[in-house]
Amino acid sequence: MLKKKNREIIVGSNNTGKIKEIRELLPKSYKIFTPNDFNLRDPKENGKSFVENSLIKAKYYSIKSGKICIADDSGLEIDYLDKAPGIFSARWGGRNGNFNIAIKKVFRELNKKDKEWRNKKIVARFVCALTICGLKEKPIHSLGIVQGSISNKKKGRNGFGYDPIFIPKSRTLTFAQMKPSKKYKIDHRFMAFKKIKKFF
Ligand code: IMP
Repeated sequence: MLKKKNREIIVGSNNTGKIKEIRELLPKSYKIFTPNDFNLRDPKENGKSFVENSLIKAKYYSIKSGKICIADDSGLEIDYLDKAPGIFSARWGGRNGNFNIAIKKVFRELNKKDKEWRNKKIVARFVCALTICGLKEKPIHSLGIVQGSISNKKKGRNGFGYDPIFIPKSRTLTFAQMKPSKKYKIDHRFMAFKKIKKFF
């Protein structure tokens, strides 16, 4: 448990979908900041893995804000596309991070690979690397994974990113068809958070 004076944290992301979700996971006693509160933009993510990129963000926002930072780097891995988009998940949405563009690209790449992909099970997973900086001497890392498959069309209006095309294993609805409160309890961020909850 942190001392009272430490109960301030910055969520190291400018993605409103992620901020909303991480906010739900953190204890209510925390005062939560976002990069916007300090006029900070995302740093360049030039790491080679989810863990490296989450560390880049957590370190950057913690130093710039002077606060503890929890940052996430996450994305979708599609086995049929050799684990793409992976760490490039946000970048598939173009400069403005347009998720419709990103989803179209997924369908385009799957079509290129196999015109019959819609009749097959397209195995995929969401991966989330969480890093906390400024709490202990060394950064704290955690990895969460949720397995699933790609829907043959977009379904649902909730959530963000690739939620309308991701169906978690043993379910029938996409993340975007689920109530956010339900998604938050089974997804990759929750799985990663569960492992480091004890530090809060
Ligand atoms: P970054 O970690 O901010 O570089 O971007 C991760 C990208 O992965 C997001 O912009 C989304 O496109 C995608 N992503 C990560 N987590 C989720 C999720 O829970 N639902 C849908 N898309 C996600």
